[in-house]
Amino acid sequence: MSEIYNFSAGPSVFPKSVLLQAQQELLDWQGSGQSVLEMSHRGNYFPTIAEQLESDLRALMAIPDNYKLLFLQGGASAQFSLIPQNILRGKSSACYVKTGAWSEKAVIDAQNFCDVLVSASSENSGYTTVPEESTWVLDEQAAYLHYTTNETIHGVEFSKIPNAKGLPLVADMSSNILSRVIDVSRYGLIYAGTQKNMGPAGVTVVIVREDLLGYASKTTPPVFDYQEQAKSHSMLNTPATYNWYLVGLVLKWLKAQGGVAAMEQFNNAKAAKLYQAIDQSTLYSNPVDVSYRSRMNVPFILADANLDQVFLKSAETQGLFELRGHRSVGGMRASIYNAMPEAGVKALIDFMIEFERTH
Ligand SMILES: *Cc1c(COP(=O)(O)O)cnc(C)c1O
Repeated sequence: MSEIYNFSAGPSVFPKSVLLQAQQELLDWQGSGQSVLEMSHRGNYFPTIAEQLESDLRALMAIPDNYKLLFLQGGASAQFSLIPQNILRGKSSACYVKTGAWSEKAVIDAQNFCDVLVSASSENSGYTTVPEESTWVLDEQAAYLHYTTNETIHGVEFSKIPNAKGLPLVADMSSNILSRVIDVSRYGLIYAGTQKNMGPAGVTVVIVREDLLGYASKTTPPVFDYQEQAKSHSMLNTPATYNWYLVGLVLKWLKAQGGVAAMEQFNNAKAAKLYQAIDQSTLYSNPVDVSYRSRMNVPFILADANLDQVFLKSAETQGLFELRGHRSVGGMRASIYNAMPEAGVKALIDFMIEFERTH
């Protein structure tokens, strides 16, 4: 099959060189005679892979020493319930900002464990913006403030870190982690599923400040108790070993690209080109407030929804796949994570221009 471009929101595109390396090493990892798939997590080789994974992520994100890194299972969705179970610290409430489908889900799940104060919501706008920070209502007694840095479905992204007014700031970064430089020290906890911008599905990264550890409720399963997993280097139970290895390869690739700062420039440039093409056309439009447009997930609609199916079918004939928008919002969505080459974005834009000309 000839080369295609995959605009899937997740699981999503991998760097080609990483797939080739994984293929090459599949039967024999670096002369060990073993496949990573077969390795004991406590054997001779896997601990090296695990240590490298942690140190590379620490270096790429400049994670301070007073933060623990956890590599868990259950996806970002499990964290929606695990965060309140782990870091309420005897408090009864938590603040949440609602800016799209994912933060909405986080609110619903947290409500099983604490009182949720919705500090701000852009639901009335159809989740096309972020409420002005000066209007946010924060409760200083709350355990933390939760927000979603990039709403994967609605295509809404924060361009700066909000002021949590002393509350530990908790962020779902599933779809834009490692896409821009961030100051980790501004956060109490960062979490992200790896299948958007870091590799395969099956690993959830949790970066948590040490002072928030040790407060899990008694009913929290030990494998989901941050403190217990931190103590055992996320190996309280058998970790998703092969997925850790693949995430590690993606991090090595990222380093070779120049790290997160280089990625940020590259991502900004890719997104700017695509939004420009959308804004210049009369067929396509994006409803999101320009200051909060996502650089990772670019939703757009066609002026005539009857053309949707034709658009998707013709795109596939040009090797452009997975452009259908999320079923809850319709239209199209192009996810252009770190691993989407500039040529992929260019091919999409060329196709869109040609489609508009002929329809
Ligand atoms: C995909 C996604 C999730 C859910 O991830 P799962 O791994 O399916 O649990 C949560 N939050 C955001 C922002 C996402 O993009």
